[in-house]
Amino acid sequence: MERATPAERLTQRDLVIQLPAVIFLSIMHALALACIPYLYFYGADSPEIAYHVVGYFLGGFGITALYHRAWTHNAVQYARSVEYILAVCSTFCIQMPARQWISTHIKHHAHTDSEDDPHNIEEGFWWAHYEWIILAPLPKIELPPRLENHPVIAWQERWYWPLSFTVNIAIPIAIGLACGAPWWGGLLLSGLRLTITSHMVYAVNSVCHVWGKRPWTHEVTARDVWWFPFTLGEQYHNYHHAFPRDYRHGVGKFDFDPTKWLIAGLAKVGLARNLFAMPERRIAETRKMMSEGTTEKVPVPAE
Ligand SMILES: [Zn+2]
Ligand SMILES: [Zn+2]
Repeated sequence: MERATPAERLTQRDLVIQLPAVIFLSIMHALALACIPYLYFYGADSPEIAYHVVGYFLGGFGITALYHRAWTHNAVQYARSVEYILAVCSTFCIQMPARQWISTHIKHHAHTDSEDDPHNIEEGFWWAHYEWIILAPLPKIELPPRLENHPVIAWQERWYWPLSFTVNIAIPIAIGLACGAPWWGGLLLSGLRLTITSHMVYAVNSVCHVWGKRPWTHEVTARDVWWFPFTLGEQYHNYHHAFPRDYRHGVGKFDFDPTKWLIAGLAKVGLARNLFAMPERRIAETRKMMSEGTTEKVPVPAE
């Protein structure tokens, strides 16, 4: 039997409307839209542009290098100071405090493409892209024991909204005023940056489960999408689902994976350790098996 659409499930009360998420995303998109005529009439000075471009990367690394690769998949361990800095950086994206993000993502790996996958691509592109955020109950918080009493995760949760307010509202408004812009100019620019960032993050769950190649595993819908480089390396999503603990997602020498370069750089200067990388032999075996059309695979733990 065909699965009910989100609209049908809503009337069956299988789904709920997440009002805070609906309000937040509506305001964010409205600010982004209003930002387009604002840029045309007022423009933006280089300090404002620099803040938001740097914020895009810092926020992205907060999610990819800390939330995802280090905390969820235990691919690397950072010095405490780096964890605090990346935890602050992650608030540039407003993708929820780490505990919620990690719990959701662990469920995605454990139940990929099934009903228990929070953003199951089988329910449609837009469901996986954003509908699950506004129409499904928040996934229960369940952390692995190694993260349960993590001091940086607890600290970030306590300060999450004040930090988010500071980096996304207070500082951009202050920079705008210093540049002679109207006070609301900084707010509109933040709305535009947040909207772009959010759709890049959502695309890992939608685009990277629909288009692209599956050179590492056919067991899940995840794809390597080399032409989608805006996710700081997370576009090699088929490799990531095949070998979730590897700190690299773009494992090839020329794969564009800035997060892997950041982690390797931090390790070089002694700020990251215990980098987990799949042995070359195992990667070569998988490549050979896949090219020969053999699909059986020894399971690899996700953390
Ligand atoms: Zn995935
Ligand atoms: Zn993952």
